[in-house]
Amino acid sequence: MSAPATTDTFSFSRLKSPRQVGTVYKDGPVVVIREAVLEEMLEYSELDLTRERGGFLLGGVYGQSPQYVVIRHFHPALQAQGNSASLTFTHETWATLTRETERSFPTETLVGWQHTHPGFGIFLSGYDLFIHKNFFAEPWQVALVVDPRKREFGFFHWRSGEVWDCGFVCAAEL
Ligand SMILES: [Zn+2]
Repeated sequence: MSAPATTDTFSFSRLKSPRQVGTVYKDGPVVVIREAVLEEMLEYSELDLTRERGGFLLGGVYGQSPQYVVIRHFHPALQAQGNSASLTFTHETWATLTRETERSFPTETLVGWQHTHPGFGIFLSGYDLFIHKNFFAEPWQVALVVDPRKREFGFFHWRSGEVWDCGFVCAAEL
């Protein structure tokens, strides 16, 4: 798979028919996602209604106050599935994923991660927070949780030094 050329600039005002979902906080990074990527992640999430699955969010970070974290690609973490009820990202998983994403999307930044909670709702567990604080500690790195049974999902971002839920903006083209 070859990565498409990346634009090194981003202009919120030039987005075509952006759609805001939930509350967008400007004192944390504003999540902007390509519609097709969101759909791709929701479809991937619905492929397993019993076990957690996850993946990486790739894109770019632009501007200050507000800062935009733009999600252009999704890389599924098939290795992380395992057989357990909860998603375990081992060091090997992280190393493999990092290698794969660097190869597939050399010009894109790892802006966050996604995982599923089949049937138990949208929140970050203690273990999820551990992962976020240890592996996604940059102030612009975000998390997406999807419940494929309840068909709900939500983003989380860093705000005032803590991880909070947040709304997002999606658009057909970024
Ligand atoms: Zn979780």
